[in-house]
Amino acid sequence: METTPSKSASQAEVVVLSDYLKCIPGLFVHIRDETASTIEFKRYADRIMHLVVEEGLAYIDNQSPITITTPTKHVVTSCSNNCSNIVGVSIIRAGDSMLDVFMRLIPEASIGKILIQRDEATCQPVLFYSKLPSLADKIVIILDPMLATGGSAMTAIQVLIDRGALESNIYFFNVVSCPEGIDNIHSKYPNVKIISATMDKGLNEQKYIIPGLGDYGDRYFGTQ
Ligand code: URA
Repeated sequence: METTPSKSASQAEVVVLSDYLKCIPGLFVHIRDETASTIEFKRYADRIMHLVVEEGLAYIDNQSPITITTPTKHVVTSCSNNCSNIVGVSIIRAGDSMLDVFMRLIPEASIGKILIQRDEATCQPVLFYSKLPSLADKIVIILDPMLATGGSAMTAIQVLIDRGALESNIYFFNVVSCPEGIDNIHSKYPNVKIISATMDKGLNEQKYIIPGLGDYGDRYFGTQ
C-alpha cells in the first residue's frame, strides 16, 4: 500500500498513522469513550503509543542499510535506526505516559524532561523546569500525547534549539493532533516533523481537542 504523508497548511511534513493503519480507529474508540476506566484507557493508549513510536522511528532520518542472511540462506536488505543518537524529551506530565513504551523500544536513548505551564495572567506557556542531555548532533523526539494549540510544544522546541538541537533533527510524536496545533508549530518551525496516531477536527473554546478524548494526563494517570 502506498503511504503519503499528510501536509499541513504550511506544506511541512506530517505523518498521520490513521491515514493508512487499519487498526487505529478500533483502538481509539476505547480511549475516546468517556466511560472507559483508567485501566481500559491505559491499555488502549499504550497500544496506540507503541504504534506511534514504532512507526515514528521509521520516519527518522538516521537509518543505515543493513543486510542479513536468513536461516534458509536468503539475503535480505533493509534499513535500521542508529538508536544511540536518539534523545526522547517528555513534556511533563502527559508526556511521561509515553516514556514506558519509548524506553522499552529504544533502551539506548537518553531521556530529557521539560515542564511548561500556562501563566494564568498572560495565558502564555512558561518554562518551569528542564533537564536535558547534550543535544548536539542528536535526533530529538518530543513526547506529548495531545497536540492542541501547540503552545507547549513550541516553547519546548525553542528550549531544545537554544540547547543545541538542530530544528531539522527534531521530531514530535503524539497520539492526537489537530490542524491548528500543526499549523502553529510549522509556521515557526517548518522543519520539525510531526508524527500523530490521528488528526482530529479542531479545538473547542476551552482549547480541548474535538472530538478528542478529554484530558489525556488525567485519564491515563487516573487523576480525573
Ligand atoms: N490536552 C489534553 O489532555 N486534551 C486536550 O484535548 C487538549 C490538550
